[in-house]
Amino acid sequence: MRWFSRLSPSLAVKLNVAIVIVSLLVLLFISAVFQITSKKSIETHIAVELGYIRDSLFLTMETSSSHGSIQRAVGVLAARDNIVALRVVHSQNRKVLADNNNQFVGSSVDEVITGAEAQLLKLFFQQKKPADVSLTDGDYWFQVLSINLIDPSANRLRPHAILITYDETSATRKANRELLELIIIYGAGIAIMLMCSYLVQRRILFGPLAEFVSVLRRQRNTDELLPLISNSHDEIGLFAQHYNEMSQEKAAREQQLREARKHIDGITETVPVLLAYADNQCRYQFVNKHFERSFGIPSKHYINQPLLHGVDKETASVIAPGLKQVLLGETVKFEMRVKFADGEFHHVNCTFAPDTLANDTVIGFFICIEDVTHIKRAEQTLARYSKELESKTEALEQQKEKAEKATAAKSEFLATMSHEIRTPLNGVMGMLELLPTAGELTAKQRDYLTLANSSATLLLAQINDILDFSKIEAGMLTLESVDFDLELHINRLVKAMGLTAQEKGLELVFDCVSLRPGYVKGDAGRIQQVLTNLIDNAIKFTSHGEVILQVSLLNSNTGLECSGTVTDTGIGIPSDRLESLFSPFTQVDASTTRKYGGTGLGLAISRRLCGLMGGNISASSEPGQGSCFRFNIALDRSLKNSVTPSEPDLNGCTVLVADSNNRSRAVLHRLLELWGARVHEVSGLMPLIDALDKQVRFGVALVVDKLLEEVTHDQLSFFAEQPVPLILLT
Ligand code: ADP
Repeated sequence: MRWFSRLSPSLAVKLNVAIVIVSLLVLLFISAVFQITSKKSIETHIAVELGYIRDSLFLTMETSSSHGSIQRAVGVLAARDNIVALRVVHSQNRKVLADNNNQFVGSSVDEVITGAEAQLLKLFFQQKKPADVSLTDGDYWFQVLSINLIDPSANRLRPHAILITYDETSATRKANRELLELIIIYGAGIAIMLMCSYLVQRRILFGPLAEFVSVLRRQRNTDELLPLISNSHDEIGLFAQHYNEMSQEKAAREQQLREARKHIDGITETVPVLLAYADNQCRYQFVNKHFERSFGIPSKHYINQPLLHGVDKETASVIAPGLKQVLLGETVKFEMRVKFADGEFHHVNCTFAPDTLANDTVIGFFICIEDVTHIKRAEQTLARYSKELESKTEALEQQKEKAEKATAAKSEFLATMSHEIRTPLNGVMGMLELLPTAGELTAKQRDYLTLANSSATLLLAQINDILDFSKIEAGMLTLESVDFDLELHINRLVKAMGLTAQEKGLELVFDCVSLRPGYVKGDAGRIQQVLTNLIDNAIKFTSHGEVILQVSLLNSNTGLECSGTVTDTGIGIPSDRLESLFSPFTQVDASTTRKYGGTGLGLAISRRLCGLMGGNISASSEPGQGSCFRFNIALDRSLKNSVTPSEPDLNGCTVLVADSNNRSRAVLHRLLELWGARVHEVSGLMPLIDALDKQVRFGVALVVDKLLEEVTHDQLSFFAEQPVPLILLT
């Protein structure tokens, strides 16, 4: 079949030749069967004929056993179709008894009969017991029939032989003609079938296949994905569909691979590391650009070169154990010194990582060489620096110790001095107190006395500040740790400072909504000092508006964290000066001292105190927009907390809050809500009267006394008549 495939690559030829061959074989088989059948039918026909002849001769001789009647009967019987010769031979004397041609009557057959007939007769007579024999020669059929006939000469039954020569030609010709017809019809049928089959094949198979082949040929020359087009749903359609799907997947995979490859190529070419790949025979298969540049050898010279080729003995002895290990499937890291193309020895970190198959067979390994010369150099430099630094630090530490000693001495001196100054100053102030009362002095003397008093107080405050600052700087300030109620403590402070604020027409609001009553543990005096300084400054630098102190207390990891803000509506501070104000003896500008006094120590002390108490202080402000100082400090939990009185329960109570200050009204609102009250707010006298007048059922009304400053007589009696208890907040 191989020769045939080589002979004809066309599928159409292959398919149809197979059909032709099968058809021919079938035809051959049919012809053979036909011939056998027709031969059998001829033989049957002859047998019938001969039987008829034998029976007729027998009957004739039975009826009239004379030479004449047998000769006549032979003549009549030989007149039948296809009978060429009919002779009756006496079996004993072998003489011809009758002959259809009247030729050999009375003659011995051995003399007159020749050829195939003689041969057949000889065969017949040789038999012990006569039986029919026959022979075919060419188109003729010879038959000798055995028959017992009445011998006309002896008038007795004697064995005879009937020799018949039968011409088969016409029967054979007829059969052949029929066979030819059959072949022609069959051949025509096969031809039509082949034609139809080819047309169908071309339409459903060869046509689409040829189209596919042309698409695939075009596909070779283009990157664009050309689909196989088929509208059928048979195997060809399925083939096209699967091929298209496969091509798309393949194209997507190739695209991904291309991109990945691009990235990998980009990385391998740009990383400042020498990368290479070697097979398991330790021959280079890939080196990157950096590798190429470092050793100054083009990459193509590396391919298939043994790894140790051209490597000096010393380097080879470092690499060789690594190679052994990596080929066993282990990742190897080692350091070594290699000579690069620049002629210098470089310190490198080398990594060999095995490339293994799923069954752990090592098929190669990755080589990664990192030049760490600069790191080594840096390390050496660093070691040198660190040595130098150590000696310098030692010297510095000695100097620092000296400086600290000097500072401590200075602070101690200051503290002692302040103390020394304070003692006589207290004496001066005490004496001033003892001076005669106002009535005994003239107006001028009284002025002098007041001035002397305030100057002494200011001086004392300043000396106190200096003393505190010196103490902190000298590290001599120790903090107390006592239990105290923070809210109560701040409340007292606010109350005291509220008077100063009120004198300036300012409102001092304390927002303690997030501050639960209860004990904490810390230095109450220092907290008060910080808050006093902040509130004092806020009042000092605010001419109208309000000062709001907000303080909250939260749980922290270590205990409690107290944080808060002091916000004012005063002159504000330029943003570039904000930080410097926390340095000692610093003010916004020189005019501050002239106008407001002060030493510029308050904030510096406050920041240090907050720092000592585990917190900090910072400020934000804008000139003319007021300032906001934020602080936070750490406090400890107090065991006294358990005895703290619980908060008031105002559940179900409706409270009316009347206050013209938005901020303090909001604070009151939140606080009352926290205690469970339902709160209504009004911001002025008239809205207050309105609210009370509307018969809203308030449990209590909280009224800030400022609102009632301009109340008329009528309004006063209105309030007096109210059933709601009015609480005046001063
Ligand atoms: P002193 O108030 O004694 O001068 P401080 O350290 O307390 O010292 O304040 C330093 C300076 O910071 C003040 O002189 C003032 O210029 C500025 N300052 C502090 N608080 C405020 C404030 N609330 N508003 C405006 N300026 C302020």
